[in-house]
Amino acid sequence: MIRELSTLKRTIGRTAGFFSIVFLIAFIAFLIVDIVLLSPPELVQSKLTTNPSLTLPIKPIEIPDQPDPSTDSAIVLGPDLEPGETGNNNQVQEKKFAEADKNKQVQKVAYLTFDDGPSDITPYVLDILREQQVPATFFVIASLAQNYPDYIRRAVADGHRIGNHTYSHKYRLIYSSPQAFIDDISHAEATLQTIIGYRPTLLRAPGGTVGNLSKTLASELRSMGFILHDWNVDSKDTMAALMPAEKIRENVVEQTKSKHVAVILFHDGPGKTTLPEALRSVITELKQEGYQFKTLDHLYQPIVAIDR
Ligand SMILES: [Zn+2]
Repeated sequence: MIRELSTLKRTIGRTAGFFSIVFLIAFIAFLIVDIVLLSPPELVQSKLTTNPSLTLPIKPIEIPDQPDPSTDSAIVLGPDLEPGETGNNNQVQEKKFAEADKNKQVQKVAYLTFDDGPSDITPYVLDILREQQVPATFFVIASLAQNYPDYIRRAVADGHRIGNHTYSHKYRLIYSSPQAFIDDISHAEATLQTIIGYRPTLLRAPGGTVGNLSKTLASELRSMGFILHDWNVDSKDTMAALMPAEKIRENVVEQTKSKHVAVILFHDGPGKTTLPEALRSVITELKQEGYQFKTLDHLYQPIVAIDR
């Protein structure tokens, strides 16, 4: 009886030991998956290696057609578009532009947009934009903007627009509930307002609206005065920790070809050291293709992938 009991104890002890090890392995695997796979790719950091030749002499620039930054609510109608258009905004715009193009009435427009900054890369991006004399829109993470307020102010002074890209950019937090999203972007709004002096109304959801925002939340955000923007050209610069400049250029030029209205997605987050070089080639090529560059304030109807 005693022997049986001690055998039973040993068996229980071994079984418990075995399950503890299995549990430990499962827990470690979960941590690895959680940290590596579920982190947003744009936040993958790599060591910053700046290219000193990119630092350009500061020269004043004048970018035409900028709305009054004190309001940040003016939406300027695109060429040959009437207010009140409905339906799929992207298609409506393309159709309208294509019709107008037959009569050579319309200008192709590229909207350069940069998400996930500011970072050490941002001044280099600003230098290229200044060199090329083109305006852009920066969807900034407000918690990072606090670390680099001067980059944000310089972007505004250079004629660029600042948009809200949440405060935390933490997917699990911001997409845990509609209220969590609203709280986070409201926090971002208040933070950005202290830096730039006005309310930034342009809003881009991290990862885009598809699969992240419901139609109900999107319409609530609009009723709060936010203007949601996705994109229709993806530079795919987050497909790897560091995409070669040439690959970024190819991705953008290829997708932009067929479009009169190109809203182009880049990321000026930490470590994106190939971005400035890629940006210079993209701008040069799109200029040759006849594109004009504007900030998103000039877009008649925002490109938003979720149904309206
Ligand atoms: Zn983002």
